[in-house]
Amino acid sequence: MGFFAESLNRISPSATIAVSTKARQLKAQGRDIISLSAGEPDFDTPENIKQAAIAALEAGKTKYTDVDGIPELKAAIVAKLKRDNGLEYKPSQISVGTGGKQVLYNALLATLNPGDEVIMPAPCWVSYADIVLLGGGKPVFAETTMENGYKLQPEALDAAITEKTKWFVFNSPSNPTGAAYSAEDLKKLTDVLLKKKNEHVWILTDDMYEHLLYDGLEFATIAQVEPKLYERTLTMNGLSKAYCMTGLRLGYAAGPEPLIKAMCKLQSQSTSNPSSIVQWMGVEALNGPQDFIAKNNQQFVERRDLVVSMLNQAKGLKCPTPQGAFYVYPSCAGAIGKTTPKGVTINTDEDFVTALLEEEGVAVVHGAAFEGSPAFRVSYAASTSSLKEACIRIQRFCGNLR
Ligand code: PMP
Ligand code: GLU
Repeated sequence: MGFFAESLNRISPSATIAVSTKARQLKAQGRDIISLSAGEPDFDTPENIKQAAIAALEAGKTKYTDVDGIPELKAAIVAKLKRDNGLEYKPSQISVGTGGKQVLYNALLATLNPGDEVIMPAPCWVSYADIVLLGGGKPVFAETTMENGYKLQPEALDAAITEKTKWFVFNSPSNPTGAAYSAEDLKKLTDVLLKKKNEHVWILTDDMYEHLLYDGLEFATIAQVEPKLYERTLTMNGLSKAYCMTGLRLGYAAGPEPLIKAMCKLQSQSTSNPSSIVQWMGVEALNGPQDFIAKNNQQFVERRDLVVSMLNQAKGLKCPTPQGAFYVYPSCAGAIGKTTPKGVTINTDEDFVTALLEEEGVAVVHGAAFEGSPAFRVSYAASTSSLKEACIRIQRFCGNLR
């Protein structure tokens, strides 16, 4: 028994953050690195949202606030959920935290008991499983396939549910695959969750990429598609992605009051309120003009199409076209077993991304981190010129494998 908590041995540092940090360090050392590893938009935070921070500072909004959000922000979230999702919530059903990550963490840590199972479609975002493990729960991965557009099939969800299942964590559009579910896709999953034998399962829907949807696909969320699930659904969302506020750390969730209270209890003994200034930025983000989102999305679609087309021209890669988020998730099965010009044998997708960074200076995240191998995640939230150059390098890297 060492000095550190045993629970820490159950988890790893966030792989997405680790790769982005490594890329930043190599760049600082003067290496020519193109980083497509970070899950964040390259666009600046809109001006009106920045101005709201300045106004809040000047108005002296620098004191502690209510632990899980100022009333003005809760009101803005209530209005947003009604406007965008047709969902009715009271302010007492809203929890605001320091990023979507804290909100998820609060929800899981406030509810998990040893042995509780949490189902998540795989591939999925790196932090779900580790937060579950930290909470003493057991992550259960429900596999998806590239052939099904990385969308969870109802049979796979049903098969994953046991008596011990506490939560089904769902994410559309998905990090890392970009898979986006239509209302009809969701209905098939909610039908499974409505079955008598599955009534004990709660749903945590991570709607973080809600606004980043393309090709005319309309966003839908579980409590909206199936109102009978409202009482056991936590609808989580945040400001990081669509509002270009990743570093500012603001996320929220809406759900049944007892759960929201439990999450608040936990937060009151950890961080207390999210930054007072950032909460005022959140009020402006949600209540202010939304037109920049469509403009950003136009650029995202162009970049997606460029990256998908160029990656599909790389030897041994196969890249589907997803309809949401700012990620693509190509399979690198065709590169496994091959050797790089520097003599490195590629046995796994982690070998692939490590050699790609080493030999061509392109940073992407290995599929193993998302429980989906052999593949890797490319974030196309970068300028067209750096995306083009990165894809040329990836094509060269793949073409040189023997
Ligand atoms: N959910 C998903 C699917 C994410 O990709 C992220 C971060 N990229 C989060 C939640 C957490 O977001 P944040 O803490 O930055 O609000
Ligand atoms: N979630 C983003 C990503 O997947 C940011 C880093 C993190 O929190 O994992 O890259």
